[in-house]
Amino acid sequence: MERRDFFTVMAGAAASISTMQAEAAAACLPGNVTRAQFRRFITDSANLLGSDHVVSDVDSLRPYARSMLPFEEAAHSPAAVLSVSSVDEVRSVLALARRSGVPLWPTSTGRNMGYGSMTVADPGTVVLDMRRMNRISDMDPVLGTVVVEPGVTYKQLQDFLKAEGHDFWLDFPGPGPIVSPLGNTLERGEGQTPYFDHFAHSVGYEVMLADGTLLRTGFGGIENTTSWQAFKYGYGPTLDGIFTQSNFGIVTRMGIELMPAPEAHRTGMAVWANEEDIAKAIDTIRPLRIDGTIGNSGTVGNSTIIASGVGRANLYTGEGAIPQDVTIKWAQDIGLGAWIYMFSVYGRQEKVDSDWAHIVSRFEASGAKVLADIDDPAAYNQLTLKSFELFKWKRSRGLIWFSPVAPARGEDVARQMTLAKEVMSRYGMDFMTGMTVTGRSTLNVMPIVYNKEDEDETRRARECMNALIDAFGEAGYGIYRTGVGFMDRVASHHGAVNLDVNQRLKRALDPDGILAPGKSGIRTC
Ligand code: ADP
Repeated sequence: MERRDFFTVMAGAAASISTMQAEAAAACLPGNVTRAQFRRFITDSANLLGSDHVVSDVDSLRPYARSMLPFEEAAHSPAAVLSVSSVDEVRSVLALARRSGVPLWPTSTGRNMGYGSMTVADPGTVVLDMRRMNRISDMDPVLGTVVVEPGVTYKQLQDFLKAEGHDFWLDFPGPGPIVSPLGNTLERGEGQTPYFDHFAHSVGYEVMLADGTLLRTGFGGIENTTSWQAFKYGYGPTLDGIFTQSNFGIVTRMGIELMPAPEAHRTGMAVWANEEDIAKAIDTIRPLRIDGTIGNSGTVGNSTIIASGVGRANLYTGEGAIPQDVTIKWAQDIGLGAWIYMFSVYGRQEKVDSDWAHIVSRFEASGAKVLADIDDPAAYNQLTLKSFELFKWKRSRGLIWFSPVAPARGEDVARQMTLAKEVMSRYGMDFMTGMTVTGRSTLNVMPIVYNKEDEDETRRARECMNALIDAFGEAGYGIYRTGVGFMDRVASHHGAVNLDVNQRLKRALDPDGILAPGKSGIRTC
């Protein structure tokens, strides 16, 4: 039986792909790879990696082409997937890619749910699956640092720490057990403990550039380095940041700072009853975060996101977006309210007790009630898949994360809420939010949950996301992270100079444009 490859499928699908990505890809795909060049690349890759580690027929590629985002598969489908097991293999694959002009999209565990999973920005890019590179090394129990490869998952790292008898906490994102610290950090992901800012707690990268050069950032370049994972900044420009949310290199190893288990900790939930209380809530939380009294970013959730596990159909069967009143009433009936804030305090017992008392008095003065010792698995350092409650809302796996940032001022956050609700209700999408309060900013992470089996709803979800990006951009708000299919639009709100400088860096580090074209809207042209 003849195996259909990417070109066969694209011939049929080309007419129906009308996204900005497809247009940009047509203009910029390096060298306009021919079918013969692509086949040669696949044959050479199979010779190099073994045919078991090369997937290129369309049926086997299907799982890699699927994501929760509202696009046709062909719009962001990879043309092949190559699975590598070592730095030497990465270098050899890069040589093949440069020769043939076939672009590569590196992934760690490729879960990135609601942001595109393993799909690629520009169709036809080949996924470089790094799950087989899953070694843990350089554990330093004194400084509390460890080095991981891309395929190491949080679960694997936690098992390793336990088996070695170390008492460190990991800070994992929502879908914790199955994703990788390295992939999540490169996306500048967030968790729930005081080490919630994953980029801030990464230290010392090993990066392969497009030409096969292996760069070690920070103090990693010093022969016999003693301090690669001890000091992040290095000498001269600090480079780590340019390899996050970017396509300037393939990160093959990364150091992580580990949080020592605290002597004591306590988790609570503050509840504000009414929808208009959000500004008061943020203005109460901010100073407690900035002065460190509340030790983690915590999450501010609205009543609809809290209700997601109950299932939408059990709460509302009317037309259009669910009215907030419905979920607020549901929340009030179970002793919650329009807004909840999950937070934790950490340290020695007397510090925990005194911080706790101070926080409770502040929250109560703002009109909130505080529920103590809430069972929050994230704060208690257990691995959890709890964020997947979201999928019970519509019993469908259609999900887009819309993640704007606001200054942590009540008036700004309230303005974002009003704006989001207005845009989302125009497209019949339910308003949900789970905000991370970093201190001076809030990452207002809003899931757009939709039914992917319903064509009209999928179209509305896509248009809603585009409208949200534009409305927030025009109101002066940036986006913390976005998925394939929306990257060019988000980049367009950050100004021509920003894009131009990114393109200059791209051309300097990857002149052939073979690494992840379209990532964060960056291409060589
Ligand atoms: P996770 O392991 O958390 O599921 P992914 O593997 O999906 O994360 O990675 C998220 C995104 O980060 C990818 O789509 C890719 O753009 C980028 N990325 C992941 N791993 C690497 C890497 N090793 N080098 C460069 N970029 C990477």
